[in-house]
Amino acid sequence: MPSESSGDLLELFAQDLLRSPLTEQIFLPQKPSVWMSHSSLQLRVCYDQVYEVNKNLSNMQLVKNLSTVKRPRRDKPIVCQIVHTTGDTNREKIFAYYLGKIGPHFFIDYDGTITQFVETARVAWHCGFQGEGEDNEGELYEKGWEVWSRRIDKSPWKVEDPYRGYETWRRRWPGLQSPIELVSGRYPNFTSIGIEVREPEHRQPAKFFDTQYEALAELLRFNAANHQLVLDRQHVLGHYDVNPIARCGPEGDRDPGEAFDWDRIQSMLK
Ligand SMILES: [Zn+2]
Repeated sequence: MPSESSGDLLELFAQDLLRSPLTEQIFLPQKPSVWMSHSSLQLRVCYDQVYEVNKNLSNMQLVKNLSTVKRPRRDKPIVCQIVHTTGDTNREKIFAYYLGKIGPHFFIDYDGTITQFVETARVAWHCGFQGEGEDNEGELYEKGWEVWSRRIDKSPWKVEDPYRGYETWRRRWPGLQSPIELVSGRYPNFTSIGIEVREPEHRQPAKFFDTQYEALAELLRFNAANHQLVLDRQHVLGHYDVNPIARCGPEGDRDPGEAFDWDRIQSMLK
């Protein structure tokens, strides 16, 4: 960059941000270390190449905070969106974690604020199958219901074989042998956009906020318009749909959990 004053640099950067589509990576012209403000947007620089910017997207505020972890999508198209709940309520901890290697594309806070961590043009690591060889969840799913439904989640709980926690999955997806028959397929990270909804503080009963449902519906529609995605229940999935071994427990389905109202979100998408 030429040696303009910091004000000129900010103006240039602000114009660049305002022109850019939301899915485009923007690199900082330098590494500012202070809070800066601009008439059209608020800019906060957190780390190298990581920033937040407030823009209005319809009635929702989109905050963008891109991770430096970059994985190209290669040849697999996006076909679905996968909804999660965070499993933790501490925002600082959640953000620190998502700025590492594992995290969603988007995070929705209690007030409906959306933070984007990864460009949708890139793969985010939010629902990969774990384990090695025979113990890998994907390997087990390939063997069909009779095999994977007997995979008992390791601690903290112990349950009897067969694992009754998977029966709820089966009721949600009658006729399917395994989650790899869903549109998300054998490699769900590569075929999806991942959205984490901040978990309610009070789990009994857990209740997501109206603002979270509204932001989620808007974000699902926004992504669908950008990537030509279908918005029915087959294409807006929960983490527990694509990986029940990891996300269905004897105490109930936990990601996005039993408190998540699918009928409500589906009716908002019509
Ligand atoms: Zn999840």
